[in-house]
Amino acid sequence: MKVTLLGTGSADGWPNPWCDCASCAWARDHEVRGQTAVLVDDTLLLDCGPDVPRTAARLGVRLSGLRHLLVSHAHPDHLGPESLMWRSWSSAAARPLDVVAPPAALAMCRAFLTRWEGTDPTRDGSPLRFLPALADAAAPSGSNPGAGLLHLGPDEARYVVRPLAARHGDADIGPAVLYDVTTPDGGRLLYGCDTGAPLPAATLDAVAGRAYDVVLLEENNGDRPGFGEHLDLATFAELVAELRRRGAVVPGTRVLAVHLSHRNPPGDVLTHRLAQAGASAPADGDTFDVTPLATPSPTATPSPTATPAPVSAAPLRVLITGGARSGKSAEAERRLLAEPEVVYVATSMPPDPSDQEWSARIATHRDRRPPSWITLETRDLVPLLREPGPPLLIDDIGLWVAALLDDPGELAARTAELVEAWRFAARTVVAVTNEVGSGVVPATPAGRQFRDALGRANAALAATADEVWHLVAGIPIPLRRAEPARNGRPGNVGAAGETGSMSLL
Ligand SMILES: [Zn+2]
Ligand SMILES: [Zn+2]
Ligand SMILES: [Zn+2]
Repeated sequence: MKVTLLGTGSADGWPNPWCDCASCAWARDHEVRGQTAVLVDDTLLLDCGPDVPRTAARLGVRLSGLRHLLVSHAHPDHLGPESLMWRSWSSAAARPLDVVAPPAALAMCRAFLTRWEGTDPTRDGSPLRFLPALADAAAPSGSNPGAGLLHLGPDEARYVVRPLAARHGDADIGPAVLYDVTTPDGGRLLYGCDTGAPLPAATLDAVAGRAYDVVLLEENNGDRPGFGEHLDLATFAELVAELRRRGAVVPGTRVLAVHLSHRNPPGDVLTHRLAQAGASAPADGDTFDVTPLATPSPTATPSPTATPAPVSAAPLRVLITGGARSGKSAEAERRLLAEPEVVYVATSMPPDPSDQEWSARIATHRDRRPPSWITLETRDLVPLLREPGPPLLIDDIGLWVAALLDDPGELAARTAELVEAWRFAARTVVAVTNEVGSGVVPATPAGRQFRDALGRANAALAATADEVWHLVAGIPIPLRRAEPARNGRPGNVGAAGETGSMSLL
């Protein structure tokens, strides 16, 4: 399967040409993205906004081989019906073209071509074949799994396409669809654009066990949620986690963020945030040759994998340090948001009901975490580190040290034990700690003892960590990060990726 990104941007593109925000200023200088569209094998095109044919021309990509056009919905950045008219003026005019789209989008094409070409595009003898893509066609769990499948092209070049319900659309355009595409060589691709979250239950059932080679998922809203039915960085990661739980995203799946807008942070920040979800943002014009992961079975009964695969193939030790309110806990949580399962380990004392400020602080942290995470309140960290299992988030080492301060001998012994268990951790662990001692010397002996003990524990944990990050004013600064492997495979972050850069966060 060959996948060419003809566009990776939002409706207005990134930069938005009228906008002088910092994100657009960065994009103008570094990376211009047009409306999202994806060409598969030079034969099948997913979405065709008005930007797209000209972008193809600028990229040197020919559309003459196109046989199947799949439109997700009738929003104007996904369908410019004029493209069909321009095609009719070309040497490809007489060649057949399937147009698969929700009924409202087909009606738009029919009205446009009837108005400007003067004939019904679906008349007898027309090279265009209109096929409705009905979200309802997604087979509910337990029903005939072959329902709703479209078989496009001759036997030797057959695409099997399944429209699935998106969380996007309105009364005028009807529901938008996602596309599950199986290519002639057995490649499996999910096109998720546009949609909000969560996905409808029938869609999640339909993608279970599909083990896609490529998942293209919109991420329109960046850090500014609330704009339309779209994904932001947090809901994108949570949806990837759900797809992992369902066996739709597996080790080796390439997860690509598209439909990117200026609501996103620019450059390295976006790269870092997407890498936390095991994803990346391709550029307009990028092409991937994808070897299918396993034997195709578009009509097989979905069978979710028993144990969902974590983002990191091998255990990783990640230490995140920073001052008070530096954003270190939020960074640690983002780091694990796309994991199918997470065990959150709170090392704080149970809240004292009389301390309202502390109780409120704990409640804020708890509300921020996905409901699927398991929470443990314990300081018994060593057994947890020794057991294989889902990634651990330990928040935080400072409270763990503080609880042992009364007995210096015990503290030293327990710290040595913790550092040893951390060094040989059997599972991925992200530990939050506090940066101490940058300011004045504490006035009390207990304060000085805490500062010294935590400083020493931090240094010992950092010495054998795979990654160490320092949060300053909410910005993660890498002190050490996982290196890509030198043997050509991705590094010790097991996310799908064509380059080792996927392992760099
Ligand atoms: Zn859109
Ligand atoms: Zn802007
Ligand atoms: Zn839309």
